[in-house]
Amino acid sequence: MKTFRIGGVHPAENKLSAGKAIETLALPKQAVFPLSQHIGAPATAIVKKGDVVKVGTKIAEAGGFVSAVIFSSVSGKVNKIDSVIDASGYRKPAIFIDVEGDEWEESIDRSTELVKECNLTPEEIVAKIKNAGIVGMGGACFPTHVKLTPPPGCKAECVIINAVECEPYLTADHRLLLEKSDEILVGVQILMKAAKVNKAYIGIENNKPDAIQLMTQKAAAYPGIEVVPLKVKYPQGGEKQLIDAIIGRQVPAPPAIPINVGAVVQNVGTAYAVYEAVQKNKPLFERVVTVTGKSLKNPSNFLTRMGTPMSQLIEAAGGLPEDTGKVIGGGPMMGKALVNIEVPICKGSSGVLIMNEKEARRAEPQPCIRCAKCVSACPMGLEPFLLATCSAHGDWERVEHEKIMSCIECGSCQFTCPSHRPMLDYIRLGKGKVGGIIRARNAKK
Ligand code: SF4
Ligand code: SF4
Repeated sequence: MKTFRIGGVHPAENKLSAGKAIETLALPKQAVFPLSQHIGAPATAIVKKGDVVKVGTKIAEAGGFVSAVIFSSVSGKVNKIDSVIDASGYRKPAIFIDVEGDEWEESIDRSTELVKECNLTPEEIVAKIKNAGIVGMGGACFPTHVKLTPPPGCKAECVIINAVECEPYLTADHRLLLEKSDEILVGVQILMKAAKVNKAYIGIENNKPDAIQLMTQKAAAYPGIEVVPLKVKYPQGGEKQLIDAIIGRQVPAPPAIPINVGAVVQNVGTAYAVYEAVQKNKPLFERVVTVTGKSLKNPSNFLTRMGTPMSQLIEAAGGLPEDTGKVIGGGPMMGKALVNIEVPICKGSSGVLIMNEKEARRAEPQPCIRCAKCVSACPMGLEPFLLATCSAHGDWERVEHEKIMSCIECGSCQFTCPSHRPMLDYIRLGKGKVGGIIRARNAKK
C-alpha cells in the first residue's frame, strides 16, 4: 500500500467520534466573523452597525487576489464591527451579528437533490468558487480560486483530493465521505474541469475502510476519479507528503508549490463546498466540525454555522469536563491551545479537542541525547533539533540556511523526542522571524 517516503510517525488514532453521524448544531445567539480567516490579505467589511443581513449575504469583500470574501451564516442585525480573539490567539477585526430567525438568501438552492450536470466553463467555475469565498478547509485556508489559477508556465496534470484526515481524534472528513459521497464526487469532477485535467485521485488512509469501500464503489460512475487507499502514517495529509504518496513526485523546497509538479491538491471538505457553491449557489458559511476528547461525554460531529462560539459546540457535546486541562483548536499534533472557548468557528476550524489534565501536562524537557529520532521522523528531511536550538538563540541566518521555511509544523519531531524537547514552539518562532526577514528583503527589491 502506498505512503510517503521520508519520515513520519504513528500517534494513537483516538477517532472517538468516527461512528457519530453529522448533527446540525443549533444557531448561535450571536455570530462573530473575523475578517482574516484565510491566508492572504484580510477581507474588508461591507456592512455597518444596524444593517440587516440574511443567511448567505456577503458581509466582507476580498482584500486582494489572495484573499476571500466572507458571508453571513445567520440572519439578523449587525451589532458592531469590533475585534475578537480567534483560534490563533491573536485579536482580529471582526463583524458581530445578532441572530434573528433563519432567513436565507433566495438565490441559494436549499433542496437536497443531487445536481450532477455542470455546463460552466473552467473560468466560470473558478469565478463561482472565488465569489463563494471558498478556501482550503483542511486548516490551511488558502483561497481555492488561487490554487486553480496556475502561475505562467505551470500546468496541472491531476487533482489530488486530501481525504486522509491523519490528525488523531478528527473525524469530520470521514463523516463527510460517508454521508456526502456523491456530492463530493461531483465536486471533484467540477474541480477537474476547473483545473483542465481528466484525472483525479482521492487519497484515504486505510483506517477508514468503510469510506474507501463506499467511495471506490461510487467513483466507478465518475470517469477519471480513482480512490487510492493509503497506509496510515502521520502527516500524510500534508500536501507534499500526499503528492509523494499518490503520484510519487517530490515538490522541491519553497518557493516551489504543488503545481510545479503538476498537482492541484484540495481537501475533501473543499470539494464538498465547491459542489454546494457551483451546483447550489451556496456560499461557504457552514462546515462540519468534530468536538472530541477522552473525558467529553458525547464526542460528536456537528454541521456548524461559521461564527458560532466553540463553547456552544462543547456544550452540545456534553459540556466542559471537570478535569479539562486544555482546549485545542484542531487536532493534537497541529492544533493550538485556545485562549478562551468563545473563539468563533471559522472556515478552517476542523475540530475542537478537549484534553484532560493528564494529557495536557507537558513532560519536563530534558537535555538532548542526540538520538536523531527527530531527524528520522521529519517528513521534510530537516534537522529539527538544530532548527529549534538556533531559533532559541536567535540565529535567523542559520535557520534560514537550514531551510526552516520548509517546515510544515507537523509536530512529528516533538512527538518522537524521548527528551520532550519543545521543538515546535521554537521552530514556529523561527519561521515567523525568518518569514518577516524574507518579506522585508523582497519588498526592498
Ligand atoms: S514540525 Fe517541522 S521540523 Fe518538526 S518534523 Fe514537522 S516538518 Fe520537520
Ligand atoms: S529526538 Fe530529541 S533527544 Fe533525540 S536528537 Fe532530537 S531533540 Fe535530541
